[in-house]
Amino acid sequence: MFAVHLLSFYFSKLQEDQIKKVDRYLYAMRLSDDQLADISARFRQEMEKGLSNESNATAAVKMLPTHVYSTPDGSEKGEFLALDLGGSKFKVLQVKVSEDRKGKVQMESETFPIPEEFLNGRGTELFEHVAESLKSFLRKHHINHTRKALGFTFSFPCAQSKIDEGVLLSWSKNFKARGVQGNNVVQLLRKAIQKVGDVDVDVLAMVNDTVGAMMTCGYDDQNCEVGVIIGTGTNACYIEEMRHIDLVEGDEGRMCINTEWGAFGDDGVLDDFITSFDREIDAASINPGKQLFEKMVSGMYMGELVRLILLKMAKKGLLFRGQVSDALRTKGTFQTKHICLIEQYKGGLENTKEILEDLGLNPSEDDCIAVQHVCTIVSFRSANLVAAALAAILTRIRENKKLKTLRTTVGVDGTVYRTHPQYPKRLHKVVRHLVPDCHVRFVLSESGSAKGAAMVTAVAQRLASQRKE
Ligand code: BGC
Ligand code: MG
Repeated sequence: MFAVHLLSFYFSKLQEDQIKKVDRYLYAMRLSDDQLADISARFRQEMEKGLSNESNATAAVKMLPTHVYSTPDGSEKGEFLALDLGGSKFKVLQVKVSEDRKGKVQMESETFPIPEEFLNGRGTELFEHVAESLKSFLRKHHINHTRKALGFTFSFPCAQSKIDEGVLLSWSKNFKARGVQGNNVVQLLRKAIQKVGDVDVDVLAMVNDTVGAMMTCGYDDQNCEVGVIIGTGTNACYIEEMRHIDLVEGDEGRMCINTEWGAFGDDGVLDDFITSFDREIDAASINPGKQLFEKMVSGMYMGELVRLILLKMAKKGLLFRGQVSDALRTKGTFQTKHICLIEQYKGGLENTKEILEDLGLNPSEDDCIAVQHVCTIVSFRSANLVAAALAAILTRIRENKKLKTLRTTVGVDGTVYRTHPQYPKRLHKVVRHLVPDCHVRFVLSESGSAKGAAMVTAVAQRLASQRKE
């Protein structure tokens, strides 16, 4: 009995030492409440900069008008097609929105791989691949007898002057097809569909994935006025007062704004929070100097951040008794899905051992504990940063409404939020801590980015037919 006791005491002391060592090494990634409040305040300023006429052109955070004026009101119904491009998977969907709100939204979807050469090739070919996938989906599901309305979820920053137009401002994540930036992607899609032939659809609306997430969640919960994605990339949208949106004429009513918060920090305002590891990630990315907040937060980069940290710590003799493997030296060998496995409540430590061994390392128990803690610090920083930016949005909505306390709902989607075992819980807790005057309900908006496109399309279709009458 005594021996067991002693052993477990000894183990937890060891554990503590490992955790302290990592804490010391990564102190710059552990953000205090004050620092989070500071980051939140800076994001508030960036939002204002993006909204205002004078500063929008040079603003890092673009605050793009979406021409989506409201969340669903229940009158959306019908059958729609949707394309979802720019997340972890490219999907084609058929979405049925029933008359009765409680009848729920039904959907069938299919995932299509996008070969690497389309991401880096010519834009026309990328869109033809999209159109071909749509065509094969229609054929497989025998859908092609009547003309269908289609909504396009396109998860990149676009300048929209109406709902069925979007000029790509810049690619992000792992997309860089040529000849798309500066062009209207709806037009590119329509052309590709025409070229491929035999596809009878009307592209009626284009939405960002955050807008889709918000709309999907808004179908069930009228209080939903924020959409957040924490996946391959990260971003948020929210409902803003028209009188604050200089870029769109008119002061009445409200409109959804796509913040494009991934670009927070691109003008240097986060420089004092950006670590040498973040700089390294940025330098090796396809868009150096761009999307700096996204690179600290999202799934495309978190795993790689951990790899860079482990490599550096090993080289310094702080891990693996100084051992480094070829795999650990190779970009992309450690992914965010590994962080999720390592941070699992049960089995996390065994997973850590297995993952490290697969990387050709020979970790001790101490090493595994330390690596687990590195993952926690990186993923926790991500949740902290998202919470800080989200807190700024919530405060803005609360002030817009001149409320002392705000009750609102946030629709969230994205692989990180959906698959990391502790991410949602941490995010919710930090948000509630940062903005105690906002009572937030978080709703997982499963497949929300695409379903929401159907809702927006429904509205666009109704408006279009009203115009014809
Ligand atoms: C894009 C956003 C998108 C986000 C999440 C970012 O890289 O710029 O438009 O919403 O990823 O997919
Ligand atoms: Mg205005």
